[in-house]
Amino acid sequence: MTAEAAVPLRPGSGRTAGLRTAVATVCLSGTLEDKLVAAAAAGFDGVEIFEPDFVASPWSATELRSRCADLGLSIDLYQPFRDFDADDPDVLARNLRRAEHKLDVMEQLGTDLVLVCSSVSPHALDDDDRIAEQLHRLAARAGERGLRVCYEALAWGRFVNTYERSWEIVRRADHASLGLCIDSFHILSRGSDPAGIADIPGEKLFFLQLADAPHMAMDVLQWSRHYRLFPGQGTFDLPAFLGHVLTAGYTGPLSLEVFNDVFRQSDPARAAVDALRSLLALQEETAERLAPEIRSRAGLMELPPPQQLNGHAFVELTVDGGSAGHVERTLAALGFARSGRHRSKPVQLWQQGDSRLLLNATGGPGASIAALGIETADATASARRAEALLAPVLPRARGQVEADLSAVAAPDGTSVFFCTTGSGATGWLTDFVPTGEPAQVGRSIRITHVDHVALAQPFDHFDEAALFYRSVLGLQPQHSSEVAAPFGLVRNRTVSDPAGTVRIGMSVSVLRRGTEWQPAVTDPQHVAFASDDVLAAARAARAAGAPLLDIPDNYYDDLDARLAPPPSLLADLRALGVLYDKSADGEFLHFYTEILGGRVFFEVVQRIGGYAGYGELNAPVRMAAHRRQRAAGSTSAAGAP
Ligand code: MG
Ligand code: MG
Repeated sequence: MTAEAAVPLRPGSGRTAGLRTAVATVCLSGTLEDKLVAAAAAGFDGVEIFEPDFVASPWSATELRSRCADLGLSIDLYQPFRDFDADDPDVLARNLRRAEHKLDVMEQLGTDLVLVCSSVSPHALDDDDRIAEQLHRLAARAGERGLRVCYEALAWGRFVNTYERSWEIVRRADHASLGLCIDSFHILSRGSDPAGIADIPGEKLFFLQLADAPHMAMDVLQWSRHYRLFPGQGTFDLPAFLGHVLTAGYTGPLSLEVFNDVFRQSDPARAAVDALRSLLALQEETAERLAPEIRSRAGLMELPPPQQLNGHAFVELTVDGGSAGHVERTLAALGFARSGRHRSKPVQLWQQGDSRLLLNATGGPGASIAALGIETADATASARRAEALLAPVLPRARGQVEADLSAVAAPDGTSVFFCTTGSGATGWLTDFVPTGEPAQVGRSIRITHVDHVALAQPFDHFDEAALFYRSVLGLQPQHSSEVAAPFGLVRNRTVSDPAGTVRIGMSVSVLRRGTEWQPAVTDPQHVAFASDDVLAAARAARAAGAPLLDIPDNYYDDLDARLAPPPSLLADLRALGVLYDKSADGEFLHFYTEILGGRVFFEVVQRIGGYAGYGELNAPVRMAAHRRQRAAGSTSAAGAP
């Protein structure tokens, strides 16, 4: 099933036009030329020109204007103009002269809007009337040229650092060419209530800048400069925020202003697609929460709706000559049967219950998870949604009798197939000729389905991947956690459909992995199978020779101290190497195999009651055990690299 290259995407297919979109050049990596090309290719309508990008560019303002026009990009904002208001008439005179120069640049750029941010200067005024009077003078000069000024309260402005105060100043200045710039980061990072934005007259909201951010307790300037994220990637409630802005009557573009250390180094073409996807998903989420009369006048974009999901149809692993035998023996010992062979490709179907693994022998080196098959009520509709969210569509390489499966490429390189397994003669399972081979291990293992799949993410694409899986598949974020692994902190994030039938875990090292001392498993991946009796499954799998991970006694002593499971259960857990967790909602029992083929392992889990987690607390114990296994060399890993 593995498909190779992604076909070029067609921006905009399958979605309505929606609100105009823009991106600040500061969001993207490279030179101004690189940034503009990336923004246009992703499908943005316009850009904010970040002044340092222009100052460093060899283009004149008129050349930049025509370059943007050639690319089909409007210039929606020129920014920033800093430290305008002043307590000293000489400083103010200099600032007005500086502003006249920038108004000249704007005329040549063909943009009518400049952003003035609140002052951090020692000359800053702490007097709303005087700031209003000085901004009025600036707005009058701009207005004479048909230009406009928007005033933004920086979260760390010396005196003006809330939108309530910046709005009061704009209101007092009372000039038609002066309005507000609303920036979600500056408002939400301070914990301000954004509901008051809805009461500001819409015609005074000149510009909207959107950024998300992770929750952090740190200096707000550092937080802003390094950790902003695209909407949907952090913890701010941006659908609610945008709802207030649209309720006020804002009609300008949705513009992204995101300062982020990773995005500033990443391929700008890819970052621009991630950025635009965030605005598409944000419009959908906002529409769901807006009152009908505001929704109908706001003109938010509509996406093909997410389809109901019905579980993991399959997980495809690529294997090579070294890893194939190891993986096959492990699956057999876990009670799987090799039930089918692909009609035209070197792919085997291993099945137990509704849990299906495809072993594709065209891969390597080692073993890797290459594709996820997702059960959806309507595979075509799911693919249309993915395409509308800018997912690269994979070419369909199919033979005469092969099911026509739509697939897209996730940011981590995993192919995501949309399947409807139950649909008889046309379903994808008809690609496989039954082998008639029975399972080698009896029915005691009772694996029923795939519970979750966990994929380590490339460092630079963790946030992008989380937004991708969540928006394309219509999943909800479940939890985020950080665990102290043997070789550094690992960050986890999981997404799931409401019924918990599709669960995807993503993990990343909090810092880049080193290059010399690199003992951790590189980019580990695992498939977790659900069983309704994990203790019986562990017993049978061990008896069948499955390479299960040994868990140290200290873990069970600590478990006894922390959670005090019944003594007989604790004895079974200890004897079988089964891990345990408990929450207010239920219990979780799970065990792991060793690493197979360099990075992949399997897990068998049992959820009791409403337990919705993943035993995250146990992850460091598992990682240390994997490290011990690899350092010692595994007795059962004959044939593995
Ligand atoms: Mg801003
Ligand atoms: Mg797991």
